[in-house]
Amino acid sequence: MRYGIFSDVHSNLPALEAVFLAYNKESVDEYLCAGDVVGYAANPNECIELVKKQAMVTVAGNHDWAAIDLFSTDYFNSVAKEAIIWTRNNLEPAGRYFLGSLNLVYKNEDLTLVHGTLSNPGNFDYMEDTLTALETFRLLDTPVCFVGHTHVPGVFIKDAAGNLFYSDSVHLHMKEGNQYVVNVGSVGQPRDGNPQAAYCVYDTKTKEIFIKRVSYDINLTRREIIKVRLPLFLSERLLLGR
Ligand code: ZN
Repeated sequence: MRYGIFSDVHSNLPALEAVFLAYNKESVDEYLCAGDVVGYAANPNECIELVKKQAMVTVAGNHDWAAIDLFSTDYFNSVAKEAIIWTRNNLEPAGRYFLGSLNLVYKNEDLTLVHGTLSNPGNFDYMEDTLTALETFRLLDTPVCFVGHTHVPGVFIKDAAGNLFYSDSVHLHMKEGNQYVVNVGSVGQPRDGNPQAAYCVYDTKTKEIFIKRVSYDINLTRREIIKVRLPLFLSERLLLGR
């Protein structure tokens, strides 16, 4: 089985389309989305339609819930808040229904999928340190958990002896007895200094995980953001990947 796992699209349609074009060369059997389909950019409805069509499962992100009033924007910075209010006002009923139907966690025999952490999925904590990773590993009963939320790709590894490591490697060979928490990065707003859209491939047969990057028409996304008068900062940060 080959999974295509992606996250944090954030209403960036040109990036999402580029990712699916790249996925066409990957012989993916099933697509999974780790949340935050909307927020920040100008094409929430189009992104929801494409994710709905392609992904077998999508789990809820904080922006998805905030856009339909299921999560408070109190802890959002001012531009994120402004983008959520714009998204709320521009969501079509079908999109609102889709976001409201999302669960926080998905699990099958190969993997677990959550936006933030397994320890408190509805709190949307950031998987940023080994302590947070450890709490998720304690609850993890599949070989790997895929997350998003930080927009920074990377992997926490727990070996058979219980030792924890972090790696920013983009090609992983899974070892028997190890468990992994893989952050797949962001399609629509990368923050690791690389402006290219990120996407992940997980091959259960070869036990390999890849995080790949693809360039897209950033200026097209920027023009859309400016056209609908979302904060200018949201357009500028895409060029920097920050
Ligand atoms: Zn996000």
